[in-house]
Parts: sequence; C-alpha cells; structure tokens
Amino acid sequence: MTSRRLKRVLITGGAGFIGSHLCHRLLDEGCEVVVFDNLLTGRVANIDSLLGHERFSFQHYDVTNYLYVDGPLDVILHFASPASPADFEKLPIQILKVGSLGTHKALGLAKAKGARILIASTSECYGDPEVNPQPETYWGNVNPIGIRGVYDEAKRFSEAMTMAYHRHHGVDVRIARIFNTFGPRMQLNDGRAIPNFFRQAILGEDVTLYGDGSQTRSFCYVDDLVEGIWRLLRSSYVGPVNLGNPNEMSLREMAEKVISITGSRSQIVSLPLPPDDPKVRRPNIDLAQRVLDGWEPKVTVADGLERTHEYFMAELERGERSED
Ligand code: UDP
Repeated sequence: MTSRRLKRVLITGGAGFIGSHLCHRLLDEGCEVVVFDNLLTGRVANIDSLLGHERFSFQHYDVTNYLYVDGPLDVILHFASPASPADFEKLPIQILKVGSLGTHKALGLAKAKGARILIASTSECYGDPEVNPQPETYWGNVNPIGIRGVYDEAKRFSEAMTMAYHRHHGVDVRIARIFNTFGPRMQLNDGRAIPNFFRQAILGEDVTLYGDGSQTRSFCYVDDLVEGIWRLLRSSYVGPVNLGNPNEMSLREMAEKVISITGSRSQIVSLPLPPDDPKVRRPNIDLAQRVLDGWEPKVTVADGLERTHEYFMAELERGERSED
C-alpha cells in the first residue's frame, strides 16, 4: 500500500448505487468528499443523510461537460454511468458520452490537479466470454454494434483512454473491472435481475427469468466491492483488476433464492433472452488477491440477500407512505 494522502476526493456518480456507498466509506476514512452527479440514474435519496456533513458537498452536474473543481484534489473516482442493461436501450447516447467524454474530462482534471484517478470499468469488457472464469489477460468477446455495445465499448474506450493518460501524461491511474454487485440503494425498478426478482417476489407478481435461466453470474455484495475499491485506490497496481465474487450461479438459482428469502408465492415465468446476454460470467480474482493484500469477498450471497431484502421492504413501504 502506498502512503499517498487521500484527503480530498471527487466522486463522479456519487449519488448512484456504488458511488453513494463509496461516499460513506471515504467520509468514514476521514476524506473530504465532493460529488458530481446529474441524477440521470443516481438519486439524492442515496446521499441525503450526508448533505449536512462538513466534509461533504454535492453538485448537480453532468460530467461530460468541462469539469471545474476549486482547490486541491488528491483522488478522482469516476463512477458516473448508467449500468443496468435496461438502460442500454433507454440511454444509449448518454452511456457512450459519459464513458468517453466523461472519462476524458475526469482524466484531464486528474492531470491538471496531479490527482490519482480510479476508473469504474466492468466485466462487460469481456462481453459474452469464451473463457470462464475471466482473468484480466482475456481480451473479451464483445459485439461492438449490439445493444450492449454502447456500455461495453464505452468502458473499453475508458480503459484505453485511462492507459493512454498514464503512458503519455504520467497520470497515476487505477482501473477496477467490477462484476455484478448488489445491495442496498439499488433501485427496485432499475431492470437488473436482483431488483426485478425482489420487487416481483415481494409484490407477488410473476418472477421474470430471461431465457431458460441457465446463464450464470457471480454476485458480489456491495460492502465487499467497496473494500476492494478502497484497497485498489491505495495500492500501487496500475492496470485493470477484477473485483467480484467468484461464487457463480445460474439465474434460475438466484430467482429461486429470492423467492425463498421473501417467502413469496410468486411463480417463475420465462421471457426471451435479450441479444448478446452473456452465457457465463465469473471473475478470476487471483490478481486482486495478490495485489490487494489477500482481498476476497466475505459476505455470503445468503447474508447479502437478507440485507438487500430488508432494504427493499423499507423502500416499498416508504413508496407506499408517500403515495398516501
Ligand atoms: N435477467 C432475468 N430476469 C430479469 C432481469 C435479468 O432473467 O428480470 C437475467 C439477464 O438476462 C441476465 C442476468 O439476469 O442473464 C443478469 O442480468 P442483469 O440485468 O442483472 O445484469 P447483467 O449481468 O446482464 O449485466
């Protein structure tokens, strides 16, 4: 671990699911946190408990535009981007812009401030992988012009731009390749598998399984991911590092787990599999373990799902109360 000062931090997308967890963690670590978020998929509700904090500030801002921050910056965490496959169809241009223009602006700011920058990349860089589990050395199998291509290629461009700023301008960079993550502050209607399954199961609606449900994912609880990002930020390793939980399961198994945890009587129904939906996904975390002091996920999927269930129940009750 390097002893660099990590005092003043800019988090783009800090009102989003993962971004807001990072805000809490970095404040707990004693940092001053500045958030830029245009609230396209982020929500003030994710950070409203921080709004009066003396070391926290929030600006409603689209980071694809020129970035100006007064005073010094030690670190930038570039986490702004819609990330649900449902958004790939609804927000394709915004996704391409924040991954390309937004990353360029964030890197430019890092260069100007002499700040370290950590980019949120994704397992989508591996596309529909022909190698399982995926090590960082695998170059992937991406359809650049498919529906998912807007996200996959934006993030691949982000990685390329980040390495170019490192090689050409000497910017101090880190790249986290984030695999499926879940937990409190996901939006119940964001279209991803776990929020969909919970919403449907709690409301007693049919649980929608795309395809035959044999496709796999490996789900990581958000606290484990945040610990990995914190360690990566303080490590000296430049280049992509997989962060995720290697516990791979089929989507049918996940749907059954959610139905059982919620005690729901919902039935599973099959819907068509979206195009280019990866058949398998599982991180090889050997590199993360080596360079991040033995980092590995600690929260079991069962525990993580319990905590997520509690959050979603509270969210639904809050929603019902505000409709009264
Ligand atoms: N999925 C599903 N039912 C849903 C939503 C998603 O079966 O209601 C499937 C989806 O086709 C994919 C997997 O669950 O195979 C994970 O989807 P998610 O949207 O969570 O993220 P992805 O890993 O595809 O980026």
